[in-house]
Amino acid sequence: MSAVAKSAPAVIVGTPPFDLARIRRDFPILDLTVNGRPLAYLDNAASAQMPRPVIDRLIQYETREHANIHRAVHYLSETATAAYEGARGKVRRFLNAREEREVIYTRGATEAINLVMHGYGRKFLTEGDEIIVSQLEHHSNIVPWQMLCGEKGCKLRVIPCDERGVLDLDAYGKLFNGHTRLVAITHVSNALGTINPVKDMIATAHAHGVPVLVDGAQAAPHLAVDVQDLDCDFYCFSAHKLCGPTGMGALYGKAGLLEKMQPFQGGGDMILSVTFEKTVYNVIPHKFEAGTPHIAGAVGLGATMDYLAAIGMDNIAAWEHALLSYATQQFETLDGVRIIGTAPEKAAVLSFEVKGVHPHDVGTMLNEEGVAVRTGHHCAQPVMQRFRVPATARASFAFYNTMAEVDQLVAGIRRVQQMFT
Ligand code: PMP
Repeated sequence: MSAVAKSAPAVIVGTPPFDLARIRRDFPILDLTVNGRPLAYLDNAASAQMPRPVIDRLIQYETREHANIHRAVHYLSETATAAYEGARGKVRRFLNAREEREVIYTRGATEAINLVMHGYGRKFLTEGDEIIVSQLEHHSNIVPWQMLCGEKGCKLRVIPCDERGVLDLDAYGKLFNGHTRLVAITHVSNALGTINPVKDMIATAHAHGVPVLVDGAQAAPHLAVDVQDLDCDFYCFSAHKLCGPTGMGALYGKAGLLEKMQPFQGGGDMILSVTFEKTVYNVIPHKFEAGTPHIAGAVGLGATMDYLAAIGMDNIAAWEHALLSYATQQFETLDGVRIIGTAPEKAAVLSFEVKGVHPHDVGTMLNEEGVAVRTGHHCAQPVMQRFRVPATARASFAFYNTMAEVDQLVAGIRRVQQMFT
């Protein structure tokens, strides 16, 4: 089989709503060449790259500000504490949370979901209770709930999606019954890019008196998130998908719920007093931050929030949408390439199959062309099962990507097709 252009694509003349060349200069890694080609980094849904201001902020912290926090009166400890807590305020603004104490630092989205499972699920759910998730979830929003079901005798109910990757909201409404205790849904699917109508879904759950956790790992990097407007009960994300450090993330929770929850881990900093008879837990958010945290991670996350705010999340969303539209148009000119995930509302994720070529071979060949895409099940095996594929190749865009990189991807796919047919 050879690649044939079906028709000349309509060219979108994309003009980013910011100075893209200047932005790209902030990302030293984007200058790399890979296999003699300019790197086209299109694996942003797995992890985004870090800009110089965030790197510089980390260096500043490690060389001029580091000490343990909250526990000493000396200069460095106070400086580090101010940086750590200051970043919490930036996360609050980023999510538009009401109060800083509603922001808990975590290792990332995975730990945030596990925190809710332990802190809320293990305390409040009992045998026969039900948790609603969707068919689009990442494993990190399935497995913790399955663990809870195994421990407590609860049941997982699943919202199905259609052939486009759009959730069936009628089916969702019908899943509620007197046993439903929690809804845990992703805002944006990492495997398909579908943007779920979480605001409406939250309203439906609340009409049944059920709280909602939103996994924002793939949404926070691409959309303006307003937890008050969504009215979600929990929202989480990972810093490394937002151009920040790995091992860092945040959980937003409504203060009233967080206060009722049990701690996730015990240790230093999460207590007000300890005797062998009794421990009095600290107030939120500290109740959930046992031990010495990832202080540099929090500081780096704060710098990331500043960086993204300066560009503007709406500008980021607009440019990524232009990249996705252009890439989708280009893919439609390729015979033998199937896009998996065609929801009308999508973030900049393009999962695809090249007919007759295993996704891993697609990824390996694209790497020869300097193009970094992800191949595999994307930690979303139920999505793969739904679409009856073992794996896909996935290009995922960030605001620093260019139309030329889309062209490099498309040219790479044509070469893959030539090589394998
Ligand atoms: N949820 C979604 C939708 C994701 O895409 C990911 C990361 N691929 C996670 C959760 C988990 O994020 P992390 O590994 O950073 O905890």
